[in-house]
Order: sequence, then structure tokens, then C-alpha cells
Amino acid sequence: MTEIAHAERAHALLSASGASRWLQCTPSARLEATLPDSESEAAKRGTLAHEIAELKLQKLFSGLTTRKYNATLKKYKADELYEPIMEDHTNAYLDYIQSIVHQFPSPPFVAIERRVDLTDFVPESFGTSDCIIIGSGRLHVIDYKNGQGVPVSAENNSQMKLYALGAYKAFSLLFPIESVHVAIVQPKVWNEPSEWSLSAADLLSWGESIKPIAQAAFDGQGDYVPGSHCGFCRAKATCRVRVEQIMEAGTKAPMKPPLLSWEEAADVLKRAEGIVGWYNELKKLALAETLKGGIVPGWKAVEGRGSREYADLDAAFAYLKRKGIEEAVLYDRKPLTPPQLENALTKKVYKELLAESGHVITRSGAPTLAPEDDKRPGITNQVNPEDVFGPAPEPPQTNN
Ligand code: SF4
Repeated sequence: MTEIAHAERAHALLSASGASRWLQCTPSARLEATLPDSESEAAKRGTLAHEIAELKLQKLFSGLTTRKYNATLKKYKADELYEPIMEDHTNAYLDYIQSIVHQFPSPPFVAIERRVDLTDFVPESFGTSDCIIIGSGRLHVIDYKNGQGVPVSAENNSQMKLYALGAYKAFSLLFPIESVHVAIVQPKVWNEPSEWSLSAADLLSWGESIKPIAQAAFDGQGDYVPGSHCGFCRAKATCRVRVEQIMEAGTKAPMKPPLLSWEEAADVLKRAEGIVGWYNELKKLALAETLKGGIVPGWKAVEGRGSREYADLDAAFAYLKRKGIEEAVLYDRKPLTPPQLENALTKKVYKELLAESGHVITRSGAPTLAPEDDKRPGITNQVNPEDVFGPAPEPPQTNN
């Protein structure tokens, strides 16, 4: 049984996707609503990838004709934001959904792009879940993410829990639901989808627990609380509390001895984490303000460094060739890097032609500092004596 709804990707004031923010900083939603929302190129690319993924699911689950599928896919491929690698990434999403569907003894219920009502828990709220699968007492909620900047884990993820609550509300009268399984397919970041499970009872009790917080957020009440959730907040560049927290990061470290201890350095690194991104964001806003004639005391907009370009590239190069300049001088032929080729050829062709033929070798990346909870194992350039000399001998036994 399959239900496909092409839900509009509208957003409620308290959206599921913003829940990690308004659950921790309750007045943020009302504040954000006063600020302009500009969709980044990455977000537009994500929407296109979602549309391709949805089209593939329609073909798979709702019998979309090949002709209609090809015509629509062609239209998507003509979009300037289209990248060949989207094929691989949306296929990974499709494969994962199929792998879940095949786990059921009989075909489960599948709903694609389903708008779910969240008002039992969050005032005036709704969301659009990418994929809901129900059968054998299990509810699966699966989300596709196209971004690569911020890895999103399914574990304890409030957006996913809200979608699951909405799906539970919509379908639990029709299908018994005992366990809930949420998954995020983010192929640009994770090789495998990030998965997390909880019981339906725990999900419902979480839903109850957030009701007063959601009401406070809806009313614009509570304290501003900065944290890692500020990353996607529309107010992040000019939010006073966040700015104060960031500025404190540089001034409040206890620096009595002339040099910081590693404990102090660790604390400063943690507190100053968002400072570069925030500074650039604030500069961008101040530039926009000065360009439209506003006053930002002590600052002005100036012309950046100019650049030279050909009035007519073809005509210029034809002229140079007539003047005897060799082609080798005019063009700089550079081989594409393996990731660029993978993008251009798709994963499958890249794997067949390059990865499996041994033409590509993988070198370790340069070491980088990461927070303790980063999923990658920690490394050191210290040599382990056991790797060189073998296991240490047992200490000699003494007879006392
Ligand atoms: S930037 Fe952070 S602290 Fe400020 S309103 Fe947004 S979420 Fe709250």
C-alpha cells in the first residue's frame, strides 16, 4: 500500500526542522519570524535533489510511467543546479528505503512526502516527512539530507521525533505501532544512513514533555540560549546573546601565567568555535546595510579589487592564434581530481573505471583537530613501542 502526497514544503512558525533550535532557545522562533528568509544555493540544490528522490520513489512505489518519469527527470537534469552525483545520492536513499521495505514479511504501508500534523504537541505546527513506512508494529521515518556542511545524526534528533509523532498520530488508528525507527540518509556525509530507535511509548512521553516548551516558544517566552543550535538561526549574526557569548570567548579565559595551559586552551577553543563564521556573516550583513545607504558607524562599502576579462573570448583567442601564439600557451589543461571525476562520471562509472582498476590510491588526510565526540577515531604520531618491538615481555616472577 503506498500513499504519495506532493506536499508543499511550507514551514510553520515552530517547524520540525527548526525544533532543535526553538526547544533550546524558546524565543528564537518569534525573533526569526521578524527577519528575512533567504534561501541559499545549497538549500535550492537540496530541494532539487529531494524532487529527484521523490520522482524515483513514485516510479518505484506508485507506478509512475517510464515516459513521465524520463520526461520529468530530463527537466530536473536541465536545471542549472543539477549535479550528476545527485543520481548516486538519491539512489542511495532509494536503496535504503527498499532495504527497509524488504525487511517486512508482507508489503508495508509507504507514504512519500507526507505532510504530518504536529498540533497535538506543538501549536500550529506541521512538517513534511520524506518517507514513512509502517508494518508489523514498526514505524520507520526516513529523511534525506543533501547537505555536506553539517553532519546530522538521527540519534535523539528532535526533527525526526516530531515527524514520528506526526506519523503516529496520522496512522496509529489504522496500524498498531510499538517501535519507532528514525533514519537520516545524508550521502555526502555518511556512507551508511544514521539510524536510531525508541519505543512508541517513549516517543509519546517525549512528545508530552515538550508541550510546555513548545507553548513557551509559540508565545515567544523564555530566555535566549546560545549554543550549537544557533548555526541555522536567521538571527545568528546579530543576536545579542550570541554576540555577547562569542565576545566573552576571547576575553574571559583565566590567563594568570603568561602561557595558557592545555585545559585553558581547550576551553577557549570550545567557546570560540563559531567566531570566524559569525564574523563573516556579520560583515556580510553590514555590507548589505551600507550598500543600501544605511549607516554602520566606522565602516563603509568600497569597490573590491577589479578583475580583467575578455570582451569576446573566441575573438580574442582567434586573434592571438593568427598572431602566431601557440595553443599550448593559451590553454592550461588540468586533469580533474578524483572527487571531481566522480562527480562528473557518477559513482558507478568512477568505481568501475578508476577505483577498481587501481588507478586511484587513497592517502590519509592531514590531521585536523576535532571535538572529543567526533565519530572518527583519535590519532597520534607517537610510535607505539609494541608496533616496533612486539608485546612487552612478562615481568620476571619473584619467589618471596
Ligand atoms: S542565534 Fe542562537 S541564541 Fe540567538 S536567537 Fe538564534 S538560537 Fe537563540
